[in-house]
Amino acid sequence: MKPSTTTSRGPVDAVTVLTWHALVERAEGLDAWPPEARLYVFTLDEFRCQLDHLAAEGFTAITMADLVRWQAGQAELPTKPILLSFDDGHRSNAALALPELRARGQKAIFFATAGRVGGHCRLPIADCRFQTQAQDGGCWVSWPDLRALLDAGMEVGSHTLTHRSPSTLSREALRHELAESKRVLEEGLGVAVDFAASPTGYDSRHFGPLAREVGYRAALQGVIGRNRRSAAPFALCRIVLKRSYGFDLFRQLVDPTSRAYRRLRLKQALRNGFRRVLGARAYEAIRRLVLRRGRE
Ligand SMILES: [Zn+2]
Repeated sequence: MKPSTTTSRGPVDAVTVLTWHALVERAEGLDAWPPEARLYVFTLDEFRCQLDHLAAEGFTAITMADLVRWQAGQAELPTKPILLSFDDGHRSNAALALPELRARGQKAIFFATAGRVGGHCRLPIADCRFQTQAQDGGCWVSWPDLRALLDAGMEVGSHTLTHRSPSTLSREALRHELAESKRVLEEGLGVAVDFAASPTGYDSRHFGPLAREVGYRAALQGVIGRNRRSAAPFALCRIVLKRSYGFDLFRQLVDPTSRAYRRLRLKQALRNGFRRVLGARAYEAIRRLVLRRGRE
C-alpha cells in the first residue's frame, strides 16, 4: 500500500460526494459517445484506479442515509467518509460498476432516471444518453438491475422522471418530475426512495423545497463543494467527475485537506453566468459546437 498523502484531522468536518455517470469496458468504447456526453464517461481501468486510491487512502464509503443521520446529529461518521454516487441509471452502473464496488466492499447510491428504467433507447449508444423515449437498444438499467443493486446493499435514488433540466421547468412540472419518479421507483422496487439528485447540473431554486415537499429526505444538487454537518440537506453539494480531470486532480479532489474543488466551483459559477446571459438553448448549442470542434 502507498503511504497516505492525506492527514486525519480528528472529527469529520465535511463530506465529499463524488458522482460518476457511465463506464465503458475499454477506451475504444469512448468513441461511441458524443463529445458532450463523453466528458463524463470513464473506462473500467480508470474507475478501478479511483476506487483503489480511495481504499489505499483509508476512505470509507457511506450511504446517503448515513449522511442524513450525521447531519441530524443522530450518528457519527468514520474518520474518512466519502459518498459515492452515480447519475442517470446507465446500464454500465449495474454491469460494470457494481462488481468493482462489491469486490472492494464499497457502497454507492445510484440515481436512476425513472422514466428510462427498463426502457430502451435507439442505438447507436452515441445517442442514448439524451433519449427519454422508450426505443430499441437498451442502454438503461432494467428493474432487475436496480433490484440487484439494492440486494448488494446499494441505495437507489431518483434522478427525476425525464432528466429535463430543472432550470427550464415550471414549479409544477418540476414537482411532477420529483413526485412521479419517486412513485414509479417505489412501485417498481417495493422500497422507499428517500433521496433525489438534480439532473443536468443546472439547478432550480425550487428543486430542494419541492423535493422536501413530496417526501424525500435529502437531495443532491449541482453546485460543486463539500458538505458540512450544517449544510442544507436538500441542497447538498457534490463533485461530478469528468474524465478530463485526470487522476492527479481526482486525488486532490478527494483529499480533505485540498481546496482544489474551489477552482472548479469558480469555473462552474462563470459557466452558469454565461448560460444565464445567453439563454440555455444558445449556450448548449455553442457548447456542443466547441466540444465537437475540439475533436476535429
Ligand atoms: Zn443526469
